[in-house]
Amino acid sequence: MNKLRIYNSLSNSLEDFIPIDEKNVRLYLCGPTVYASPHIGNARPLIVFDVLYRLLKRLYNNNVTYVRNITDVDDKINAKAKAENISIGELTAAVTEEFHKNLRLLNVLPVTHEPRATSHIAEMLEIIERLIENGYAYEAEGHVLFRVKKLSQYGMLSKRSLDDMIAGSRVEVAAYKEDPMDFVLWKPSEANDPAWNSKYGAGRPGWHIECSAMSHKYLGEQFDIHGGGQDLMFPHHENELAQNFGAFGCLMAKYWIHNGMLLVDNQKMSKSLGNIISLDDILKKYDGEVIRYVLLSAHYQKTLNWTDQIVTQSLQSLNRLYGALRVSNTGDNASVSATRAFTNSDSVSTLQIAPVYNEEGSEALMHVVQPPYNEEGSEVLSPVLQGLCANLNTPLALKCLHDIADKIYKSSDQNEINALCYLLRSEADVLGLLQKSCDFWFKNNLSGMDESEIQRLISERQEAKARKDFKRADEIRANLLDSNIQIEDTKEGTVWRSI
Ligand SMILES: [Zn+2]
Repeated sequence: MNKLRIYNSLSNSLEDFIPIDEKNVRLYLCGPTVYASPHIGNARPLIVFDVLYRLLKRLYNNNVTYVRNITDVDDKINAKAKAENISIGELTAAVTEEFHKNLRLLNVLPVTHEPRATSHIAEMLEIIERLIENGYAYEAEGHVLFRVKKLSQYGMLSKRSLDDMIAGSRVEVAAYKEDPMDFVLWKPSEANDPAWNSKYGAGRPGWHIECSAMSHKYLGEQFDIHGGGQDLMFPHHENELAQNFGAFGCLMAKYWIHNGMLLVDNQKMSKSLGNIISLDDILKKYDGEVIRYVLLSAHYQKTLNWTDQIVTQSLQSLNRLYGALRVSNTGDNASVSATRAFTNSDSVSTLQIAPVYNEEGSEALMHVVQPPYNEEGSEVLSPVLQGLCANLNTPLALKCLHDIADKIYKSSDQNEINALCYLLRSEADVLGLLQKSCDFWFKNNLSGMDESEIQRLISERQEAKARKDFKRADEIRANLLDSNIQIEDTKEGTVWRSI
């Protein structure tokens, strides 16, 4: 049952995703180094791999183990703590807390395991010892280094030759190294740096070894997917792969998935340009779903150019989708509970489940969402899932949500509308969108006009019409339209929607 096709950086090609064990699909993502407030660039892999996690859960009946680490030992952390005159522990605890708060606001699902590097030093030392035993590492002046030339496949992920690597990277040339390309597994600590005892002296681990140790502990010697931003492919992922190969003699992950970079107004975010957008700041201005929408609006492998215009467009798109949900007469709560029933279901083909909220609507619902099987009896995925299965094509999946919304806006059959609203919520769930009630959404996301104000203007327009003051009535309609609110007079009264 191959459904998902995904681009594998290791083979440089689009491949069918075939898990090692369908009963336990395993995914590892390199998590943040907790030394500074996370920014929108950090959010991209978190959102991309959250969607992949949600998709895998749907495809494999929730049998997915997702590990994302926290790097809480790093020279940048030491420097920042020193500069701010606080302890390393205080700094990493504060940044981790901010990171978790951001994740909740972005609707990122909790991962199965979130190991911290400092709690896994013993596991790192075990792998280092194995590497020395196997001849892939050596001790020199309190350091332990990986012997790059020992591994003939080194460079297989980033497709670089050793000469390219030396020319293109800032390799540290040091007298104790056998070769300039050899990288650090363990290094001695200065007096004020954090240090752990080891047979090589008091020191601390290099960065790459932590992901080898933590993925090995929670996912085993071989797992399905290793993910991260493109910038991690070399040297971080290349070195992780080398370490696991040297220690365990096998390829640590079958599929290596990398997301593209993020630019702001076509420029790289940097301190010197002063264009770093912290998540904390942007989440004060916009709902997390708007940020999610922006980050999913480009294909994950492409560079995403963040602009104010994309943020505004994403907000408008979400207003349109939430506006479609309002058309349903089953009300917010019914729609939300239907989504919960969907989300919690164990079955992949949840689209065929019976309606839980509307007896009269059942026929229409089955009509709309029924065909989960084709003539040969195999499952047919919904368009949103099909889009995501085609190398996680999130722009296509978003378009499919708008197609459902179009049908809702065009339909005059309330049963069909209810069924489509149910479908819209459940399909959006795999993208982590439309998770709020409509009331909450419109109370918080209509710039300059809240719902009570809209209702007041609609009543005023009714009164104006009753006293035949059509000029005032038209004026109110035009004012609402200026605020992207469209009103329509129906038999049941005046309804409005965001456009
Ligand atoms: Zn890593």
